[in-house]
Amino acid sequence: MTRPRVVIAGAGFGGLFAAQALARVDADVTIVDRHNYHLFQPLLYQVATAGLPPSDVAWPVRSILRRQRNATVLLGEVKGIDTRQRVVELAHGSIPYDYLVVATGSTHSYFGHDDWRAFAPGLKSIDDATTIRRRILRAFEAAEVETDAARRERLLRFVIVGAGPTGVELAGTIAELARFTLAADFRRIDPASAKIVLVEAGPRVLAAFREAQSEYALRSLVRLGVEVRTNAAVTACDEEGVSIGAERLPSATVIWAAGVAASPVGRWLGKSTDRAGRVLVQPDLSADENVFVIGDAASLTLPDGRRVPGVAPAAKQQGRYVAKVIAARIAARPAPPPFEYRDPGNLATIGRKCAVIEFPFLTLRGFAAWWIWGIAHIYFLVGVPSPVLVSIRWLWEYLTYSRGARLITGQEHAD
Ligand SMILES: Cc1cc2nc3c(=O)[nH]c(=O)nc-3n(C[C@H](O)[C@H](O)[C@H](O)COP(=O)(O)OP(=O)(O)OC[C@H]3O[C@@H](n4cnc5c(N)ncnc54)[C@H](O)[C@@H]3O)c2cc1C
Repeated sequence: MTRPRVVIAGAGFGGLFAAQALARVDADVTIVDRHNYHLFQPLLYQVATAGLPPSDVAWPVRSILRRQRNATVLLGEVKGIDTRQRVVELAHGSIPYDYLVVATGSTHSYFGHDDWRAFAPGLKSIDDATTIRRRILRAFEAAEVETDAARRERLLRFVIVGAGPTGVELAGTIAELARFTLAADFRRIDPASAKIVLVEAGPRVLAAFREAQSEYALRSLVRLGVEVRTNAAVTACDEEGVSIGAERLPSATVIWAAGVAASPVGRWLGKSTDRAGRVLVQPDLSADENVFVIGDAASLTLPDGRRVPGVAPAAKQQGRYVAKVIAARIAARPAPPPFEYRDPGNLATIGRKCAVIEFPFLTLRGFAAWWIWGIAHIYFLVGVPSPVLVSIRWLWEYLTYSRGARLITGQEHAD
């Protein structure tokens, strides 16, 4: 008798937690991802702003699961799913399954303007982060040798589109990079004169937080020298910069932190999705017979009307939950009760001194909140291969403003 085959597509938070929770189940678990690493996305902005090297926020999936005897790791891109034949189709070959967990996450949405992607990269992968890091650092380098004042101004204007947690974190950190880290490094330009513009189509920054927290975040950003433009929708984006209606903002570095779209799981499975492309799943997270969709790729409204948010804790909890459902089916035990989401709260940091947090039992902002934010992230790192090393490096960067990963790597034309 062969053991049941559980295939997990995606080794992000949801997929990895599902695989680990299946460690003691009598099944062969195959986890397939198009990258060979598991990425800790909450710290990715630190790579994009030269605070941490990529290897501090991403670890080989193979090494994370090396001791799990029933797990096999494959590098491959999922291209489709044949639910009749029960196979996952990869770019090269296919994998048969008895149970399938789809955890392929989300990508950026340019709201129908996919041509903007080339000019305004989003932040989702290590490649995105090193592209953004390269563009930011190159802009300062190009400004140092630029003699034309208008062109220099364009090089020293950084536009971040979208004022959710990622946009706010990026804007605050780029402002600090310009004002402190790079301040003494250049001779012809004053990096501190750089303009960091945070553009938001909605009426406030950090819209998912309470209004008082948003206002605090806004004040903190302004204190850091960030120009915040709310009620300002980007209407055009090209090589030269962005437009907000009739107004033009010339910029060599535009970063997209605005929209999210699920990976094409709905198309693969032929299932209904919400407007962001997330598959509408059942209360047990199933989308088809023995097929489960979890994390950012899934849409679930709880009995109390709350929608499960696209955040790491939700993906982890769903990963553990589907492992329980699968284990129960394999052992012919009764199914566990429907998925329930335990909301641990919201956190966002604004530069190196402020954060806002909204936990179920505590709402806080300021320096104390920043420390809680830091401790929470270190806690989340526990379980990854080198949490102590990352925490020490992070603390060092914090104390010294050094942002030691200021390396320009990869190909890009100089402005
Ligand atoms: C910059 C950034 C910062 C964030 N900060 C926070 C935060 O502070 N707190 C928080 O709670 N949440 C945060 N989030 C959201 C959180 O990271 C996601 O909600 C969470 O990662 C979702 O987990 P997931 O398993 O669904 O998808 P992911 O973790 O995105 O994993 C998806 C995996 O699938 C793989 N994959 C995708 N398509 C394919 C394919 N076709 N074939 C094979 N493999 C594929 C990807 O390579 C990836 O490894 C942040 C997200 C970003 C982008």
